[in-house]
Amino acid sequence: MYSLTFKNTATYNDSTSQKAFNKVRINVAQLLRAPIGSSSSYQVDDAVGKEGARHVKGEITLSRTGRGIMVKATITAYTTDICSRCLNPADYALKFDVAEEFLPRDAVSAGMFRQENLDTSTIIDEDNVLDLSEVIRQYTLLATPTKPLCKPECAGLCPACGHELNNEPCECPSQISVNR
Ligand SMILES: [Zn+2]
Ligand SMILES: [Zn+2]
Repeated sequence: MYSLTFKNTATYNDSTSQKAFNKVRINVAQLLRAPIGSSSSYQVDDAVGKEGARHVKGEITLSRTGRGIMVKATITAYTTDICSRCLNPADYALKFDVAEEFLPRDAVSAGMFRQENLDTSTIIDEDNVLDLSEVIRQYTLLATPTKPLCKPECAGLCPACGHELNNEPCECPSQISVNR
């Protein structure tokens, strides 16, 4: 069983490595020809995207609907951020459920669906490829905390001298009085 530790996410911080930026693309030509209710499942375990998630892992189930394909997924996204208290890198995992209906571009172009309801990130392209990358990116951003922490008990920086207090206290009077 493949397992990923938080430390491994650093591998995906190298923005010069093209290989780190794969997309989550699934060919759904067969499923689009299948009867309504047909489904297929996939595993994802790969590096994705240029911002937000560095690596995503999870289970994806695709089901044929009357209009297109319903995507349901449980995703764990490993992201790298900056700790809001100490400003060191903060690596953490976000877990979320995805539920989105993707529509075939042909049907969309033919005007089968009302334009105002359309989200371009959930259109199956003319080669019958369903690209989940943008949806995963959006869900990751929504799940990202506004004040990320490197660890829940991060002590942060001294407001007076800027010393990082995780390892040792500083010499500021306010810190000394707190420690007494
Ligand atoms: Zn911190
Ligand atoms: Zn200080």
